[in-house]
Amino acid sequence: MAVAPNPTTPLDGARWSASCESSGRDGDEARAGLEFAASDGRIGGSAKEQLLEELVYGEWDEADEEEDEDWEPGSTLELRVRWFCVNCTMPNVEESTHCKLCSEHRYSGILNQGHLAPAFTQAGTEELAKDVKALKRLSVRRTAIGYDDRMLLHAEFQMKSNPHPERPDRLRSILAGFTAAGLYPGGCILIPAREITRVELETVHTHEHVEVVEATSSLESSYFTSDTYANGHSALAARLAAGVCADLASAILSGQVDNGFALVRPPGHHAEGATVMGFCLHNNACIAAKASQAAGAKKVLIVDWDVHHGNGTQEIFEHDPSVLYISLHRHEGGLFYPGSGAAHEVGSGPGEGFSINIPWPCSGIGDNDYIVAFQHIVLPIAKQFAPDITIVSAGFDAARGDPLGGCQVTPAGFAQMTQLLSTVSGGKLLVVLEGGYNLRSISASATAVLRVLCGEAPESLDDEELLPSEAGWATVLEVYAVQSRYWSALCLPAFMKFTSQHINGHLKASKRPKREKHPRVVARPIWWTWGRKRLVYKHWFGTRL
Ligand SMILES: [Zn+2]
Ligand SMILES: [Zn+2]
Repeated sequence: MAVAPNPTTPLDGARWSASCESSGRDGDEARAGLEFAASDGRIGGSAKEQLLEELVYGEWDEADEEEDEDWEPGSTLELRVRWFCVNCTMPNVEESTHCKLCSEHRYSGILNQGHLAPAFTQAGTEELAKDVKALKRLSVRRTAIGYDDRMLLHAEFQMKSNPHPERPDRLRSILAGFTAAGLYPGGCILIPAREITRVELETVHTHEHVEVVEATSSLESSYFTSDTYANGHSALAARLAAGVCADLASAILSGQVDNGFALVRPPGHHAEGATVMGFCLHNNACIAAKASQAAGAKKVLIVDWDVHHGNGTQEIFEHDPSVLYISLHRHEGGLFYPGSGAAHEVGSGPGEGFSINIPWPCSGIGDNDYIVAFQHIVLPIAKQFAPDITIVSAGFDAARGDPLGGCQVTPAGFAQMTQLLSTVSGGKLLVVLEGGYNLRSISASATAVLRVLCGEAPESLDDEELLPSEAGWATVLEVYAVQSRYWSALCLPAFMKFTSQHINGHLKASKRPKREKHPRVVARPIWWTWGRKRLVYKHWFGTRL
């Protein structure tokens, strides 16, 4: 069953209620966008809420009126209608026209024109549509896109206090961005979607896992965990997502296409062999890796730049030396979801040394930290491993503006990372969508990645000196010390050269002429206090100092 993309207006509480009621859905659910509040700002009591609901929904009973004749309200009640930002899902009061969190206009055209739609004005300008047409271009490379409208059918049936962040509009906004940039349709090759078979699924997941996901088809709504939902279409969407990834991987490996972008949901990298979790049903990247191996790949590299650790991918391949897994993610000593992915987690048994975790200790990590980690850890190891294909678990929740990630990666940063990875495995690169919940950020970031896949040069970064943050730098040192036991590409001379470059960079930055009359106070790197190389030696030699 094909379903046309539905570029709806923003999630409007009142409008959404009406549509739910007309489709016969439960009344409580239909009223989810309404909040009843006393005029003095207090939430009204349950009896008063019930009374007001009856007024609103026409179920007023005269008998109740007689019983309540002696009731006098302590304060005047009013109905507060909220609307939910289409870009970030934040609830906003009816009176506002822009989201208080991300400033997106309530009726922006982001679902029709992606990140190229103006953020601060209402949709519907003819001029932009003409500009978009002028941008039509053909890919220099044979780049494939895997997508199917039926993946939009996977949606949370009953909206809770806010819309679920993993929502169909994610795909709509990215597809709109591709179209507005002139890359889709026409610029790329669209591969037909196929439902993955049970046999293929069970190369990664247990039989019971597949059965549990399939069982949701007969239910209107179900939850695997409090945040991982399914409706009657979720199993189909998950089969299509996995099938798209498997077919793209096979097409890239066989040389039918050069590279590809799997625009899929539900996402996959949290799904373990026997566990559904973190919005993920089937592990799409792992299924793509297995499909690559079935098509002849001996070694597969998976690079995961989603802001969350891909615990599922690591668990599935942690004993397997034929799949190298490298993840860059927020970790914060295990406090950031899902808690796994410390630097010392390196795989086990024959797979020891084939799991590489680059765990950021805090929020705010940006382009420079990622690029430095790529240049000094990801790329040297990837090139030594020499994979036949590279699969990117491309979550865009490390993007600036994401409501869950809290990091600062820009579209140019994602484009640079894509360019760097295209130098590995002869350019055989498959990008698989994982997370990312700010529509404007994910549309811009995914489009920047697709442009590079199509052969365009990436936009350069603002800071050409690439000085990482202190937190980013300390993480790179930690991972360097752990992984140099397994990878000769991380040799000591290169490490020391990198170290001195970094210190010199900071010294140079500190000697720049002061432009501001009252310059901001910048915290000194900690090794300046200790002696410049003491921190480096501590990371390198561990307890020997
Ligand atoms: Zn917003
Ligand atoms: Zn994520």
